[in-house]
Amino acid sequence: MSTSFSNLAGAVTRDIQQELSPQEAFGWLEEGHARFKSQTPRNRDKAAMLEGASQGQFPYAAVLGCIDSRAPIEQVFDAAIGDLFVARVAGNVVNPDVLGSLEYACKYAGTKVILILGHTSCGAVGAAWAGVEDGNITSLLKKIQPAVEKTRASHGEEGTPETLNACVAANVTEMCEALRGQSDILAGLEADGSIVITGGVYNVANGEVEFTHKPA
Ligand SMILES: [Zn+2]
Repeated sequence: MSTSFSNLAGAVTRDIQQELSPQEAFGWLEEGHARFKSQTPRNRDKAAMLEGASQGQFPYAAVLGCIDSRAPIEQVFDAAIGDLFVARVAGNVVNPDVLGSLEYACKYAGTKVILILGHTSCGAVGAAWAGVEDGNITSLLKKIQPAVEKTRASHGEEGTPETLNACVAANVTEMCEALRGQSDILAGLEADGSIVITGGVYNVANGEVEFTHKPA
């Protein structure tokens, strides 16, 4: 690849974003996460990033994650101003507003990769498993039920920590499929190779992401 992100001090530019393949954009997420794991964050120049931000935004990836305080998305990928679109909702569930946001990110703002990021010990997944019903939480948790039902079928009825983490991974799979099934725009961009849809689970105990769905 001709673009060097590794020594970029400022913000991602339109030229850099346009030259980037979806696979390379995913690689940038992996590299950023490696820096997080090794506690070697990259020095970026704040003034240069803000100057870039004043010109527009050209993020290389969009991440849908949970609201959980233990899974801070920009930190986990050593991302800076202008690097990522980030949507956070309990249980990293897809809903119409999230879909619209991701459609905007990819179709109109040039983003090359979508990552659905679940995390271990997810309270929303645990609550969905337990069938919690309360206020607006009820309808949110319903979106996690397909993963709960599949995990019950494969792992049994007992909600052990291991089983619940399997359900987290199943929920990531469900949400990746929901992007394709509920958005003609995203499905079309993926089919023509403009974007990749990927998934992963962040382990809140060891700070590591296991990518469950990587680009082909
Ligand atoms: Zn969570």
